[in-house]
Amino acid sequence: MTKNSKNQLETLIRQALNCLGEDINRPSLKETPKRVAQALAELTKGNQIPIAEIAKNSLLPAPSQELVILKATQFHSLCEHHLLPFFGSVDIAYVPHKNIIGLGTLGQIIDACSQKLQLQENLTEEITNILHTALKPKGLMIVIKAQHFCIEMRGLKKQGSITITRSTRGSFVTDSSLRQEVTGLLQE
Ligand SMILES: [Zn+2]
Repeated sequence: MTKNSKNQLETLIRQALNCLGEDINRPSLKETPKRVAQALAELTKGNQIPIAEIAKNSLLPAPSQELVILKATQFHSLCEHHLLPFFGSVDIAYVPHKNIIGLGTLGQIIDACSQKLQLQENLTEEITNILHTALKPKGLMIVIKAQHFCIEMRGLKKQGSITITRSTRGSFVTDSSLRQEVTGLLQE
């Protein structure tokens, strides 16, 4: 985010606080617009990361075509409908073809895709598409489990409810026993 955009954002946050009936001159709110602008810039920095390029450059030759699973990687994101957090875990499973990808890069992909305004459904597809394009695996499955503050704090006020989304490609679509085996491993 440019300095100019950050200044504009601070002004808008000051106006928003004013619209909410807050006294923007009270001491504890003085730095709030600056802090919120800084936090929003940080929480949306995934937009600046050339993650497809990073994924493509992190491939290694596959030693076998056996399953690779990275389970329960934590993420947090901002729901693009309410600008409220949603957070949870991502499971990635793939059957390599010619390549594998660095496990650290999988974490970077999760961060880059989640550190922006998102919907859980789109986050799931985005991670899947980036990995599918870079890796060209025989099969790929992503499962995301998340809690949404926009469901917990407002509207339905359903505390503790978990949203699960899944995306599959290749052998995970066609081979139900593979899908079942991995689903079992993810639940352990
Ligand atoms: Zn929401």
